[in-house]
Amino acid sequence: KVDFRDLLLLNSNLGRGAYGQVEKWQHIPSGTLMAVKRIPFTVNGTEQKRSLTDLSIIMRSVSCPFVVTFYGSLFRESEIWICMELMSTSLDKFYKSAYANNLPLKEKVLGKMVYCILSALYFLKTELKVIHRDVKPSNMLVNRQGAVKICDFGISGNLVDSYANTKDAGCKPYMAPERIEGPGSDQYTTASDVWSIGVSFVEIAKGKYPYSRWTTPFEMLKEVVDGEPPHLSHSDFSNEMCDCINSCLQKRAENRPSYPDLMQMTFIKNYKNEDISDYVCRVLDTMQL
Ligand code: ADP
Ligand code: MG
Repeated sequence: KVDFRDLLLLNSNLGRGAYGQVEKWQHIPSGTLMAVKRIPFTVNGTEQKRSLTDLSIIMRSVSCPFVVTFYGSLFRESEIWICMELMSTSLDKFYKSAYANNLPLKEKVLGKMVYCILSALYFLKTELKVIHRDVKPSNMLVNRQGAVKICDFGISGNLVDSYANTKDAGCKPYMAPERIEGPGSDQYTTASDVWSIGVSFVEIAKGKYPYSRWTTPFEMLKEVVDGEPPHLSHSDFSNEMCDCINSCLQKRAENRPSYPDLMQMTFIKNYKNEDISDYVCRVLDTMQL
């Protein structure tokens, strides 16, 4: 159990999200460095507390190399603190630095990353009966060992309302069309997360978020529902990679592959055992972390 009095702020801001900020702290008794996410209580503080307690029970039992380790949570004044494994950075920042420094992500790197994320989500579904609900590049983390892990599962839809958040101007939707359409769209299945994997990896592979910039939040959601899905083009990427990523981006949820289907695809099988640590370190070295 993490006690607040055992923590030391290392004065380093790892990032800021829609609900709060993430900082680097040290747990003095063990020496463990950790990432602490601080979320302010909303009016629904009691509800949040209950959600977090449920979530903690789930998260504590997690042991998967592709899921960020959860150390514990604290209630501190009017905030919830979520203590987790410290990683180097998230894939949104990573790919931007990679392209900016002329170190483009090769298909073997992308294949390995997709494999890690698929493995994480499949593990959460089968072992913990949890659907992630907020799959996006900023929730995919990397470290210098070349590990790629998912974080923030179960937080949206539990602790915070992710749909309300998409109404924020400037927010990029990774949300599947069926989640946006009409009432009952909260019937969430793994197929919706499969769509989000597709959008995320089209973005990471191309170095650019695949939807155009919208003027209003309404238009951006309309584009997801009515427009063509994003895709990778065969002229830029291998057939195996296009087959894998584009299959995730079918607008009808029932046409998307399951996690075991995806794991069987050539793109994933070819690269699942790649060691990407050298490349990851080269990119991380270009970043001010
Ligand atoms: P979002 O995921 O929407 O960006 P968050 O509040 O979840 O917002 O996280 C803010 C940023 O903090 C992330 O973009 C990521 O770069 C960084 N971050 C989150 N968790 C960790 C972690 N465990 N280790 C290192 N960096 C992290
Ligand atoms: Mg996050």
